Amino acid sequence: EKAHKILSRVKERGDNRLGVEAMGLLDAYGIPTPQGEIIDDPEDAREVAASIDGPVVMKIVSPDILHKSDIGGVKVGVEDEDVEDAFEDLITRARNYQPDANLLGVQVQEMVDLDTGVETIVGMNRDPQFGPLMMFGLGGIFVEILEDTTFRVAPVAESEAREMTEEIKTAPMLRGARGQEPVDVDGVVETIQRLSQLVTDFPAIMEFDINPLVATPVGPDEDSGVKAVDIRLTVD
Ligand code: ADP
Ligand code: MG
Repeated sequence: EKAHKILSRVKERGDNRLGVEAMGLLDAYGIPTPQGEIIDDPEDAREVAASIDGPVVMKIVSPDILHKSDIGGVKVGVEDEDVEDAFEDLITRARNYQPDANLLGVQVQEMVDLDTGVETIVGMNRDPQFGPLMMFGLGGIFVEILEDTTFRVAPVAESEAREMTEEIKTAPMLRGARGQEPVDVDGVVETIQRLSQLVTDFPAIMEFDINPLVATPVGPDEDSGVKAVDIRLTVD
């Protein structure tokens, strides 16, 4: 199975922390992610960017740098002709930050629409008393300032996952506050469930954070309105 392979590769590498390399686990569990690839060469990065509609996001990929924007390791809205410079700049920043950091490359990723979308967070921590605790909340200032999060023990049923999206204080943000269109709450519910299945299937996953899981309104072609944009994960 694909997910098994990814996790055993991490063990071989002797590193228990993963960043966006863990995106493959999400694919394996049917959780939508933005189009994108991890690239180790500037010219290839430009080619990938050219194959993606519009400007792209570029991010440093290293198990030693899990808070990428803290070191200027995320560039949003990069035009195709700027991709090679951006690549070199990201590598330079990472080296300046930590000369011996294990750099796996740069992720070139499709932009998601944050104007119509809402940034949410889904996470899991293994609690000594309760076991695998799934967390849900809104991203950005909401989770940091309001500590507006909610928890359930995995595996969570659909009804429980739906409750999670309803009981946070900022729930109206998902359902179309301030004249915004409602976002794909069903997609969020399904994603919480699938992630709770992932951590149930793999007890070696100690904790993870998807921040942000962007939820957008469902399009006219009924494509999924959720995308896992970033992930951090620890295995034991
Ligand atoms: P980190 O959390 O390690 O700093 P992220 O990948 O979460 O890195 O990127 C930081 C922020 O940049 C996100 O919270 C989001 O606001 C924005 N961002 C990242 N990727 C995208 C994307 N594909 N489209 C739009 N915005 C993005
Ligand atoms: Mg993030």
